[in-house]
Amino acid sequence: AKAEGRGRACVFAPEDEQRTLHRVNTESLLREALEGEYFELHYQPVCDLGTQRIVGAEGLVRMNHPEKGLLAPGDFIDVAEETGLIVPLGEWVLEEGARQLAQWHRELGCDITLSLNVSSKQLQSSRFAGRVAEICEKYSVPSGHLVLEITESMLMNNSDQVLDVMNRLKAQGCLLSIDDFGTGFSSLSYLQKFPLDVLKIDRAFVMDIEANETHRALVRAIVSMSEALKLRVITEGVETEGQMRCIRQQGCELGQGYYFSRPLKAAVFNEWIRSSET
Ligand code: C2E
Ligand code: CA
Ligand code: CA
Ligand code: CA
Repeated sequence: AKAEGRGRACVFAPEDEQRTLHRVNTESLLREALEGEYFELHYQPVCDLGTQRIVGAEGLVRMNHPEKGLLAPGDFIDVAEETGLIVPLGEWVLEEGARQLAQWHRELGCDITLSLNVSSKQLQSSRFAGRVAEICEKYSVPSGHLVLEITESMLMNNSDQVLDVMNRLKAQGCLLSIDDFGTGFSSLSYLQKFPLDVLKIDRAFVMDIEANETHRALVRAIVSMSEALKLRVITEGVETEGQMRCIRQQGCELGQGYYFSRPLKAAVFNEWIRSSET
């Protein structure tokens, strides 16, 4: 059936036509989901490798569609960015994340940070920093606990405008993080011009870290230069105890990945932090 499907796709629907169809379908799905409020934020812990305790979380968006079930960002984020729907979706993420972060602090007395992913479209909007300020004010988000994650490639493009927005966010008490570090081509000295607080090492370095001496050396170099730049380092995609030990040996202090926990629904995550309190 699979081969038949592929053959049919070849004859009747060339690849770009299929892509257009996917884009159109996903766009209407996104509009429906924004309207129906089908989005959820799931939370993945960031842990201290020494104490194994949770120090933060990353909010990761999912679409929970009544018929299609749970969809990961890989299924819709690209189209959300292309169509600009990432702007209202990103606002929803900010608002939901801010509400949850304030609740952790207020009701659970839990001092963790929350990181949220920001897309380039959001960062390029002149209203973005102002919206973040309004949302933080509305929910009384404790200063220094909301972290905005920006990918390396976003710093490479439009860097002057991006720098301006980042400086405003910083002045408002947000922390800034560079995401997926190591996948782009920026040097650490280039990073100096941005007001960053956190650097996340991409999981590509972690996957084979025990077998790959070059990756171990690169992780060590990133950690030591991050110290010089006063950046905290989080290593992403830690799946096994061996990887956890290995990155720790390279000087990493914080990690995130399936070894600690998958991203969790809010209710499950909240149980997790309640039970990990001492
Ligand atoms: P990211 O920001 O690099 O997020 C980390 C991704 O790695 C998440 O995938 C997470 O579930 C996954 N992950 C975590 N630990 C492990 C591990 O140990 N092994 C492996 N193999 N994967 C792990 P997810 O949730 O599917 O998100 C994919 C991407 O979608 C994110 O990558 C981010 O770029 C984007 N994204 C997610 N939420 C948002 C959002 O609210 N706004 C925007 N603009 N983008 C988002
Ligand atoms: Ca991220
Ligand atoms: Ca990442
Ligand atoms: Ca990524």
